[in-house]
Amino acid sequence: MATDYDSPRKTDDELGEDSIEELKARRADKSSSTVDVDEADLAESLELPGADLSGEELSVRVLPPQADEFTCSRCFLVHHRSQLARSEGGMHVCRECA
Ligand SMILES: [Zn+2]
Repeated sequence: MATDYDSPRKTDDELGEDSIEELKARRADKSSSTVDVDEADLAESLELPGADLSGEELSVRVLPPQADEFTCSRCFLVHHRSQLARSEGGMHVCRECA
């Protein structure tokens, strides 16, 4: 019977109902053409929000200096390269401290 494997799927849908609504809202924001999503697509994308969140947390915690930035060795502030007054042996000094 088809109902045998239909009931467990309904339970999954109920569990991820909130995520599905969020997903729909996000997709609607990006492009309205993807509003109509198959149940199979929704089930697959249900796993994505969790993975995305962990990635965002990591990127928020780790803030490596950009290639065009430097950390002043006196005030320990991160300045743009244009604010670099001088650098001696890896010690960078910004214009304000120079
Ligand atoms: Zn400085």
